[in-house]
Amino acid sequence: MKKGELYIISAPSGAGKSSLIHEILKRGSVSGSSIELSVSATTRPPRPNDIEGQDYFFMTKEKFEDLEKKEAFLESANVHGNKYGTLKDYVNSKLEAGINLILDIDVQGFEQIKQKDITNTSVFIIPPSITELKSRLLKRNADTSEVIEARLKNAIAELSGANHYDHKILNDNFDMAADELYNLIVNRGGKEAKHISEILEDLLSN
Ligand code: 5GP
Repeated sequence: MKKGELYIISAPSGAGKSSLIHEILKRGSVSGSSIELSVSATTRPPRPNDIEGQDYFFMTKEKFEDLEKKEAFLESANVHGNKYGTLKDYVNSKLEAGINLILDIDVQGFEQIKQKDITNTSVFIIPPSITELKSRLLKRNADTSEVIEARLKNAIAELSGANHYDHKILNDNFDMAADELYNLIVNRGGKEAKHISEILEDLLSN
């Protein structure tokens, strides 16, 4: 059986990454193979709608650190004060079963995978502007203003890592960004909007 492919998708929070990933999952199979979102382990407490084993494998800091010692993670990182990690065995079993897997991980996790000899296609989702990012975070109404400020600071730091990814997608129009991401996954390549590097430079200089 053909092994599944690994896709890494990162973005600053509020860039619309989760909605784009869910749209891709809704569109479904890629060249006859199914596509799934990888379930990570985390020490973050579950949110009201989170389901164990579906959204994350929720665990204590002790359990997470024990797994880190046992080198059970492909990558792991501290994101907004909690630990997150991708489990090696989980990923291997999915890929071996021919399932294409999307990893929704942050820039630190991506950099760790990049250091290893793991074949993957990486995509960075870029928000149209910092103002738009802030308004999306505020609209989400999920965080306190301190957390939003921390996420914005983090967003700017993450944007500077965007050029290390294979592809960058600008999310200023949801349908177009979803088409671009889906084509990229289906066609394993695809074209990148020409002006995107200029937009990224603009975002970083503000
Ligand atoms: P949330 O707590 O909102 O679900 O996720 C916060 C951030 O953690 C997201 O940006 C997501 O990409 C990142 N994240 C989720 N799982 C992992 C993981 O396994 N590894 C890394 N490095 N980041 C993760």
